[in-house]
Amino acid sequence: MSQWPHQSVVDDFYGDPRGKNGEPNPAWVEANIVRLSTPWELVTAWDFQRVSAIRIHKKCKTSLNRVFGTIWDASGQSQQKINEWGMNLYAGGFNFRLMRGGTRLSMHSWGCAVDFDSARNGFGDATPNFANIPQVRSAFDAEGWTWGGTWRKPDGMHWQAADV
Ligand SMILES: [Zn+2]
Repeated sequence: MSQWPHQSVVDDFYGDPRGKNGEPNPAWVEANIVRLSTPWELVTAWDFQRVSAIRIHKKCKTSLNRVFGTIWDASGQSQQKINEWGMNLYAGGFNFRLMRGGTRLSMHSWGCAVDFDSARNGFGDATPNFANIPQVRSAFDAEGWTWGGTWRKPDGMHWQAADV
């Protein structure tokens, strides 16, 4: 059993992010969303702009920081190795939005999900590149994060601090 809530009850654990007119509640964002930097240089996966920090829920920060530390050590603290793995390519953190092709909110709406290297781990791709990188998967596994790469609709770029 992980330290994280089942994704059906994330409101109880992370709070309710819903505001008015399809927007997140600004007070909830202010109270719950924090910034976390990676030990390596991070850029946006879509246009390679420098990212100074990921925005996530405060309850995930310590755990995700440990995940990043484990990955950084596993790489030999090598930016080149991180780049080979695709962990330098940030593809999403806190983002208030619906699930792809769905009507429910994405786990990103609670700030408890992160995406990396979307080009090589696309939504629906049953052979995501992260399947070949146990160093990254094991670091998230050790903290109880769930990987989307083995789902019926694979989402190999995605990890979440919520059980399914
Ligand atoms: Zn995601």
